[in-house]
Amino acid sequence: MTQDDLAFDQRHIWHPYTSMTRPLPVYPVASASGCELQLSTGETLVEGMSSWWATLHGYNHPRLNAALKTQIDQMSHVMFGGITHQPAVDLCRKLVAMTPAPLECVFLADTGSVAVEVAMKMALQYWHAKGEPRQRFLTFRNGYHGDTFGAMSVCDPDNSMHSLWKGYLAENLFAPAPQSRFDGEWDEADMVGFARMMAAHRHEIAAVILEPVVQGAGGMRMYHPEWLKRIRKMCDREGILLIADEIATGFGRTGKLFACEHADISPDILCLGKALTGGTMTLSATLATREIADTISDGEAGCFMHGPTFMGNPLACAVANESLAILQSGDWQGQVAAIEGQLKRELNDAAASENVADVRVLGAIGVVETHYPVNQAVLQKFFVERGVWVRPFGKLIYLMPPYIITQEQLTRLTSAVVDAVNIPAHFVI
Ligand code: PMP
Repeated sequence: MTQDDLAFDQRHIWHPYTSMTRPLPVYPVASASGCELQLSTGETLVEGMSSWWATLHGYNHPRLNAALKTQIDQMSHVMFGGITHQPAVDLCRKLVAMTPAPLECVFLADTGSVAVEVAMKMALQYWHAKGEPRQRFLTFRNGYHGDTFGAMSVCDPDNSMHSLWKGYLAENLFAPAPQSRFDGEWDEADMVGFARMMAAHRHEIAAVILEPVVQGAGGMRMYHPEWLKRIRKMCDREGILLIADEIATGFGRTGKLFACEHADISPDILCLGKALTGGTMTLSATLATREIADTISDGEAGCFMHGPTFMGNPLACAVANESLAILQSGDWQGQVAAIEGQLKRELNDAAASENVADVRVLGAIGVVETHYPVNQAVLQKFFVERGVWVRPFGKLIYLMPPYIITQEQLTRLTSAVVDAVNIPAHFVI
């Protein structure tokens, strides 16, 4: 990639959450394999982000590549209206089998945000079909569910700037974020705000929506699984639906195949995405119970009112099938447990820094929360010079590597993070 290409990029291409007038540098990746990114400028970086929770088995995986190539020779895409195909049937069969039993009707979409839109729309249409329209969602502060408008309406109001969209964005209900930590004591008082809100609005609430156990982009917070048990019970008592957004936590990242398993509960609607294709292609799925599917289908509309152009894309389904086969036949539990142990041991050294507020680890997720926001451009450069790819934001420096990472590679990541937090220039103080 030439300097001219980079200049064009800066001038004309939006990057995620990045200013067009004061763009931060971007690093040109030429190729990626295993746990490494190769920059076109020659450096090799150890991947600490799994391309935002997605790349489980590493890049350029021969089995994933082969699945894609085989499918390309059959068909890359065909519409899903009035048509079906083997990759979609195989994938949905697998998803129904691997998720809790009541979830048996699968809607395939293209991104995580759309999976959340679909889940919310299902809940709204369910209540409409029951002749009892309910139009609000109850969720936690510090949540993140995507960037489309429905999803944004249940994201943390401050992080996603609800003030910008006032009058346009649906006004949902936000309970205080959970305080009982995943590995700490359960505090009964934690529930009070949530329970009060549910009681006060019980006839308006279509569904509770939450990220089970780990609140991701809204703060990388890990909370006590007892929360899920209590919320499941409250929802059952009030007849309110429970939507679990496992787009980030699904497929083993927290040490369980799905994070809901930490509390042994099943949601009424489940959103999956990100790692579904092993990080190769964009695909998401929303699973619902038979009761929800039947109620919607027997309602006024006669069907669920959604149908994206690229629904059930065969190429994405084929590679998702292969990724799930790799996951199910491999030792992801052993890999994630080993990563968890190593992250706990090695990131602990960061806790001694005066710039660090908290260090927390769950499964293959390691988080260092700092007292001050990071200077993203300076810190990113430091990490690249150390030969690692870590993308911090706000007060969070975090690692969630592919499951195949070696011990040495992970040590490169953790030691770079531990060294980084001791350098004042890395923070906006
Ligand atoms: N839900 C959660 C929990 C997420 O972490 C994300 C993405 N960070 C989304 C939804 C949105 O997914 P996507 O970016 O694929 O639209």
